[in-house]
Amino acid sequence: KLTSREFHPENTVIEIGNLKIGDGSMTMMAGPCSIEGLEQIMECARIAKEGGATVLRGGAFKPRTSPYAFQGLEEEGLKYIREAADAYDMKVITEVMDEANLELVAKYSDILQIGARNMQNFKLLQAVGKTGMPVALKRGISGTIDEWLNAAEYIVTQGNFNVMFVERGIRTYETATRNTLDLSAVPVMKTLTHFPIIVDPSHGVGIREIVPPMAVAGVASGADGLIVEIHPEPEKAWSDGAQSLDEALYANMMKKVHIMEKAM
Ligand code: PEP
Ligand code: MN
Repeated sequence: KLTSREFHPENTVIEIGNLKIGDGSMTMMAGPCSIEGLEQIMECARIAKEGGATVLRGGAFKPRTSPYAFQGLEEEGLKYIREAADAYDMKVITEVMDEANLELVAKYSDILQIGARNMQNFKLLQAVGKTGMPVALKRGISGTIDEWLNAAEYIVTQGNFNVMFVERGIRTYETATRNTLDLSAVPVMKTLTHFPIIVDPSHGVGIREIVPPMAVAGVASGADGLIVEIHPEPEKAWSDGAQSLDEALYANMMKKVHIMEKAM
């Protein structure tokens, strides 16, 4: 298989301008769950960048559990995140939920995020494969490692080798955390595939105070990067406020992340 280490023994490095993902350094991605407005995403970009992030995250198309919940600012949000990322010399990662909006999302972003709920949306995977753009493939809510690798195969068979995996927790019998962050998946994936792997401790645990220790553990697990949710005022966030870090918590976490990075 094209995703396997056997096919390609060396690590694949994804290059986006001057940014390299998977080259042995840690790529930090941070930003809000949802883009809520220009001022909010600008403030998130400032906080993210000061902590050392080079990629700004934020959703404009949101896969919400309830159809009555906020669904995202769509193109207006995409414009805001692009403007904020450019102002702080950062790259943009944002989710594309369907083929119908792929062209639109691709126009404003640097990395296309495939959400956990779409891990096995094979037509969407083939469509993002055809763009040739960097794709961050989140692990499905109940996705096995084998299913995850096969999902990536749908992207790579379109000739797109710019794929990174995102471990974001899986559903288990444990309810104390939102999901169970499967950090053992990181070294397992490293043996099975040449593509970079990013850890998302925010969706992995769902609880703000539990995010920093799992972010540090993510670095220790050998991940190529982290993606975390931050918000200037987490208690007012339109989505995922409970797992979003404020400026102080994020800055403190990043200090520890950088220490672990040097130790690795
Ligand atoms: C997100 O990144 O905000 C998100 C919806 O993630 P996931 O698809 O992992 O649930
Ligand atoms: Mn979220």
